Amino acid sequence: MHAIYSYQLTTHQSINSSRKMCGIIGIKGQCVAKEIFVGLLALQHRGQNSAGISTYDGERFYTKKGNGLVSQVLSENSLPRLKGGEGIGHVRYPTIGSGDEEDAQPFLTNSPFGIVMAHNGNVVNYFDLRHSLGEKRHLNSFSDVEVLLNIFADNLKRDPFEAAGAIMEMTNGAYSVVSIIAGLGLFAFRDPQAIRPFIFGRRGENYIFASESVVLQILGYDIIKDLAPGEGILVDEKCKVTQKMIKVGTPRHCIFEYIYIARPDSVLDNISVYKARLSLGRELAKGIKRKGIKPDVVVPIPDTSRPTAIALAEEIGVPYREGLIKNRYILRTFIMTTDAERIRYIKYKLNPLIDELKGKKVLLVDDSIVRGTTSRQIVQVVKNAGPKEIYFAISAPPIRNPCYYGIDMQTRGELIAREKSEDEIRDVLKVDCLIYQTINGLKRAIGKDAFCMACFDGDYPTRIKGKEMLEIEEKRKKVTRKKTAEAALFDV
Ligand code: SF4
Repeated sequence: MHAIYSYQLTTHQSINSSRKMCGIIGIKGQCVAKEIFVGLLALQHRGQNSAGISTYDGERFYTKKGNGLVSQVLSENSLPRLKGGEGIGHVRYPTIGSGDEEDAQPFLTNSPFGIVMAHNGNVVNYFDLRHSLGEKRHLNSFSDVEVLLNIFADNLKRDPFEAAGAIMEMTNGAYSVVSIIAGLGLFAFRDPQAIRPFIFGRRGENYIFASESVVLQILGYDIIKDLAPGEGILVDEKCKVTQKMIKVGTPRHCIFEYIYIARPDSVLDNISVYKARLSLGRELAKGIKRKGIKPDVVVPIPDTSRPTAIALAEEIGVPYREGLIKNRYILRTFIMTTDAERIRYIKYKLNPLIDELKGKKVLLVDDSIVRGTTSRQIVQVVKNAGPKEIYFAISAPPIRNPCYYGIDMQTRGELIAREKSEDEIRDVLKVDCLIYQTINGLKRAIGKDAFCMACFDGDYPTRIKGKEMLEIEEKRKKVTRKKTAEAALFDV
């Protein structure tokens, strides 16, 4: 392992985000920066708060990261400076930590070896781990990957699998991790419940790790496999691949990836996201039939719910129509403190096709309701187009519990379905009928055994102490406050 030097550039553009996760990539090949850049563009939906790439050329690391979209932080001009045949990249949505530029990934340490690391997920016992590092390691941020990196570095003698094993013994939470260890190679591992997605692929002598299979498809890599729960994979300097089960666990993949987070053209843990969303539509149709609703038209709230709305419309024999057109170029550059301002923002973002809505019984289809604020505003936009009645169908069951594994589900007090019945939510949204997916429908659509559904049923895949819940929620509130009133608009 080599001593290393680091070279870092930062960017100072900040924009707000509409998605709720992170995405990671690691590539071992030749001059990898451009491929990672293209891959990060394909993962942009997973995080729009910050982006970064670190590469290694056998002598030193090169890093460029900052707050903003991939195309704002990384430009054609900056890529040639990111030299080397090994690299990792990251896009971030802050669910915890400050969301400041200091929290942008990847993170670097020089001691005892040069290591850069990025991750997707959330460490539940972050504060205990941070405390346990004490004076041994200096931390410079509130990002949980910095804690993972320092535990890893602290336990790295020669064998990265052992160091990852130390993390798995100590860490409670979700973490798909990719790293470069100077002189050793590209090393990746996935937590023992495999909560967050993580896939491994190959193109000739080049290897790739990524959060979603769409990255492999776009870059022309073949899928080798999804990393198994608790598995680590090392691609060394000579491209020799070593795979080990570090800590065997039972899979509890995040089911919300299929409902909302992942791209429809991805396949996660051998399940097509697009097909899962079609199945959700067929299951949702059963609820529509049970309630005896007869809409004139089925309209998706773009973009995630489109396949669900298509399948639902087919199933109930009603025309599918685009009734809301989304302007994807409106960025969150406004601070919105009043309802009137938020509704105006939604009107800029979603424009109704009046002819498709006026005088009709409209069945709107959305992926989920978190606080209800955005849904209420979208309903208002549709109402202004003069429909006869509005029904609201949701791909997901009621969200009653926060997520502690890296999805921004707010805090318990902010989840509308935690305190209110479905009838009360219907009244808040001011719709004529509200139809949620059932938990059984969700299980039939996607699967029942290998999934975390804790935000719906409260059955968390890892044991979480009350203290840890409060700590995470407190940190999250700070992030939310920082994002001011725009936090209410994350669902659009
Ligand atoms: Fe996914 Fe919900 Fe589990 Fe979080 S709690 S990992 S969002 S299924």
